[in-house]
Amino acid sequence: MSQSSFSTLGLKPELLNTLESLTYTEMTPIQAESLPLIVEGKDVIAQAKTGSGKTAAFSLGLLQALDVKRFRIQAMVLCPTRELADQVAKEIRTLARGIHNIKVLTLCGGSPMGPQIGSLEHGAHIIVGTPGRIEDHLSKKRLDLSELKTLVLDEADRMLEMGFQSSMDAVIDAAPKQRQTLLFSATYGDEVAGIANKIMIDPTSIKVESNH
Ligand code: ADP
Ligand code: MG
Repeated sequence: MSQSSFSTLGLKPELLNTLESLTYTEMTPIQAESLPLIVEGKDVIAQAKTGSGKTAAFSLGLLQALDVKRFRIQAMVLCPTRELADQVAKEIRTLARGIHNIKVLTLCGGSPMGPQIGSLEHGAHIIVGTPGRIEDHLSKKRLDLSELKTLVLDEADRMLEMGFQSSMDAVIDAAPKQRQTLLFSATYGDEVAGIANKIMIDPTSIKVESNH
């Protein structure tokens, strides 16, 4: 077993089988550095270029922590745009295909409210969406985050650039203090560091320079 094999992580067999069928044999460098900590439940700040496999890193972490038998929101991924949220939700569904009856719901601005409200009434294990729309649902008490275990900020730098700071703060405030927070970003400037310092507990920072 090579050091960067997914089988070193102690993942659920359903996840390992899916990784094998996707021919994800080796972890990418950012995955190899972040996943052991993520699976342990640590807070992690991960900086690496686009296309380096960050989505699978946090998706495997939240799927590993999730108990599908509890039909409550256990993980939430905040993304800067609807396009990105759709991509993330698609990757989570692909990686979760061995876990039966898992429900991933996307909540993005620009989509009609009615169907989102209906979907929320049916419930979900995982929410992926943009901060503004999620803040909106929270303010109307349509989202219960009391059992949230994993909060992911994906492309945190872009979310801040797009002016989502106050919505992000509102969502973070509504999440339980006892949780795992994962922050992914292509860049790590003062603003991202500011939010990380405010919301994370003893995080480990990982930076991968290479293209992979
Ligand atoms: P990022 O979020 O870092 O920009 P992505 O998570 O979108 O990058 O990953 C880029 C591509 O690499 C995706 O198509 C994904 O399916 C693929 N990928 C991720 N991890 C692996 C892996 N371990 N082995 C092979 N392909 C992978
Ligand atoms: Mg990404």
